[in-house]
Amino acid sequence: MKGTPALAERMGKILTSGTLQVALDADRLRRQGVDVVDLGAGEPDFPTPVHVKAAAIAGIESNFTKYTPAAGIAELKQAVCDRYQQDYGVRYDTSEVIVTAGGKQAIFNAMEVLLNPGDEAVTHTPCWPSIPEQVKLAGAKPVLVHAHAEDGFEVAADAIIGALTPRTKVIILNTPCNPTGALISEEALAAIGEEAARRGIWILVDLCYERLIYDKVPHNVCRILSERARDLAVMAGSASKAYAMTGWRCGWAIGPAPVIAACGVLQSHSTSNVCSITQRAALAALTGPQAPVKEMLEEYRVRRDRLHEWLSQDPRLTCRKPGGAFYLFLNVVGALEATGIRTSAEFARTLLDDARLALTPGEAFEAPGFIRISYATSMDRLREGATRLLEFVRRRERTAVATGA
Ligand code: GLU
Repeated sequence: MKGTPALAERMGKILTSGTLQVALDADRLRRQGVDVVDLGAGEPDFPTPVHVKAAAIAGIESNFTKYTPAAGIAELKQAVCDRYQQDYGVRYDTSEVIVTAGGKQAIFNAMEVLLNPGDEAVTHTPCWPSIPEQVKLAGAKPVLVHAHAEDGFEVAADAIIGALTPRTKVIILNTPCNPTGALISEEALAAIGEEAARRGIWILVDLCYERLIYDKVPHNVCRILSERARDLAVMAGSASKAYAMTGWRCGWAIGPAPVIAACGVLQSHSTSNVCSITQRAALAALTGPQAPVKEMLEEYRVRRDRLHEWLSQDPRLTCRKPGGAFYLFLNVVGALEATGIRTSAEFARTLLDDARLALTPGEAFEAPGFIRISYATSMDRLREGATRLLEFVRRRERTAVATGA
């Protein structure tokens, strides 16, 4: 017996998703009957809008339950084009759209299709955990450009451009950013788009939180990129956050037809089509009334402001109000010093064990010293979570002082 053969080498290079791990840990405790406050995963607590659910039910009842084209049904691809034309004034054809299992698969496909082993992909941190891991899965090297809390985590064009080398194949941007909620300015985007076009570098933009921007600020990513670098820009979007449809798994990529066609080939050999029922639901979401998106955004705004106000009681927990998405990205360096806890990862672990509060540590986003709090949950749970966090810091501080730690 030779024993079990090793797994593929690529599996030794990547870690499990830090965001999904927190959800898993919280779920394990919940199933044990523990009253855990879960402000970990970024997942709207709102139900999927009624008309979207009705479209899915009608899909089942009319037996719309077979394979669809791997890249998605024509009506849904057209609905994506129409939505972007209406919202951002850009014109795309259905040959430039693919329907994917969430924004995650749209980004994954694009990386597989665009990156070769040895290529570099420049992106910014703090970043969503799957971005560097997907770059590594494609055999390429993530090059991380740091955005800073002092600048509101705004991504500077010169920092991105300064990181480009002859090996750079793709620039990956995320705006509004998960986990910081920061928006990339239109000026920075234009400068990055122009430089990418000059050098012939792909741009991949994660726009999953695009519909969740609180203030009326100029942020027309699609128009800027389609004007400056149309042949090079791939944009990933999602129904998950805007329409409270995380579990349905529906996203899309919009980009140059040859890239989208290649994503379709890849998908035809991996997952095939997104669930037919989900596609009917997403069609209703994109073409139906958009009022629910606005209503949810307004509720997120109230939650953001309240949570920020509550946490501001402790000067060791600092953050700015984010411009988009539904996360507070809290600097906990002061709290670590006060409590004697060494890292934000340990802070999050202890918080879950001691206070039954699930938050995602900055380490998951390449940003140690921070904690991400998702406020896509009810005001009551947020209040309870904030109380547990504030009490935890005070309690641990007293213990640290008493033991001289
Ligand atoms: N995107 C959400 C988050 O950041 C869901 C988990 C994931 O897919 O990473 O929490």
